[in-house]
Amino acid sequence: MNAARTAVRIEGRGPVAMALALFLGRQGFGPDSTLADPVPDELPAWLSSRAIALSLGSWQLLSRVATLPAAAPILQVEVSMRGRSGRTRMRSADLHAPALGYVLRYGSLHRALAGALSARQAGATSGESAGADAALTVIADGEPGAASKLRDFGQTALLAEVVAEREGHGTAFERFTDEGPLALLPLPQPLRHALVWCGHPDESARRAALGARAFEAELGTAFGSALGALRLDSERVLAPLQRKVRTAVDETGRIAIGNAAQALHPVAGQGLNLGLRDAFELAALLGQWHASGRALADAAAAFARARRADRALTVALTDTLAQAFTWSAVARLESLALGTLDMVAPVRNRFAASLMFGLRRV
Ligand SMILES: Cc1cc2nc3c(=O)[nH]c(=O)nc-3n(C[C@H](O)[C@H](O)[C@H](O)COP(=O)(O)OP(=O)(O)OC[C@H]3O[C@@H](n4cnc5c(N)ncnc54)[C@H](O)[C@@H]3O)c2cc1C
Repeated sequence: MNAARTAVRIEGRGPVAMALALFLGRQGFGPDSTLADPVPDELPAWLSSRAIALSLGSWQLLSRVATLPAAAPILQVEVSMRGRSGRTRMRSADLHAPALGYVLRYGSLHRALAGALSARQAGATSGESAGADAALTVIADGEPGAASKLRDFGQTALLAEVVAEREGHGTAFERFTDEGPLALLPLPQPLRHALVWCGHPDESARRAALGARAFEAELGTAFGSALGALRLDSERVLAPLQRKVRTAVDETGRIAIGNAAQALHPVAGQGLNLGLRDAFELAALLGQWHASGRALADAAAAFARARRADRALTVALTDTLAQAFTWSAVARLESLALGTLDMVAPVRNRFAASLMFGLRRV
């Protein structure tokens, strides 16, 4: 491969940027033909310890290019509304899948991908051939840019870790409250769960400042007793929630992927999964273009077309989940809908499969 003409320059050093470099490797792009920015040795502690739920589809994609770290399998997702009887459970066994997904920490995923990348680049001379004159620049720096379309949900996520009294047996809980969704995800350590509690910004700030016992009591009221008593066992971190979609259309020679293209509300844990599908499909497309001798710089329009449906559907689903279930006026209807979803297995399984593999694949 002529690196100078076929090179792809990747801006960014997050999981999506590193996954793209690794996927491109499988398409025959040598280490000299891609340039990832240097990977930082240390991430901020709050980011490194943040839990990430990877769908089964993402897990399978990444397993092809990296040795993944210890992760907690999600065997069941339980969706419910606070104070309502309706609930639905999606089980991996119903779909004959080993798990619906896996939970791991951002830092351990980052290290695994960085390790795979440095092993791949060990034999390379340098990445300089894909410098400023690269045929194609991929923006994967996690920032949709100032011109992005913004939706403010009026919510702040309170992130923390709790230790439960009872085993959840691989259950991820998603509970919709009047203020926003509250999720508890199993972590690789027994009884330990990651909490993502979305609420009004003032309320989230107040909860973050409560003493540990008062906080645990409020959490128990909001979440219920499915895991017994919950003990706070970490710092509490606040993250304001906005959805941003990049508006600058991909132009010749420049393509944005991952959070640089769209940063979603974390409800349903779809942001990184969508970004990894961006990276995988871009690598596959560039592999085809290169094999047929076409200029990589001209791939932007074809990529935008190929990704339009999955991106639009995932953004719409995430926006809806973030807001619709908080409308108290329709809460009863939503609770009925959850109960119905629980009874209609094909619909429920189709919904679960869409979360596992992306919305276009089912
Ligand atoms: C609270 C929360 C929970 C989430 N949970 C899930 C989930 O369960 N499943 C899922 O699929 N997605 C989840 N997401 C979304 C997911 O984190 C992003 O979609 C994903 O990280 C995007 O990857 P990226 O490589 O495009 O960008 P980024 O991960 O933003 O990476 C871009 C670059 O910025 C660096 N970086 C970012 N912030 C800092 C900083 N402060 N200091 C130094 N370096 C920094 C990164 O290391 C990287 O180098 C969640 C997001 C939030 C806010």
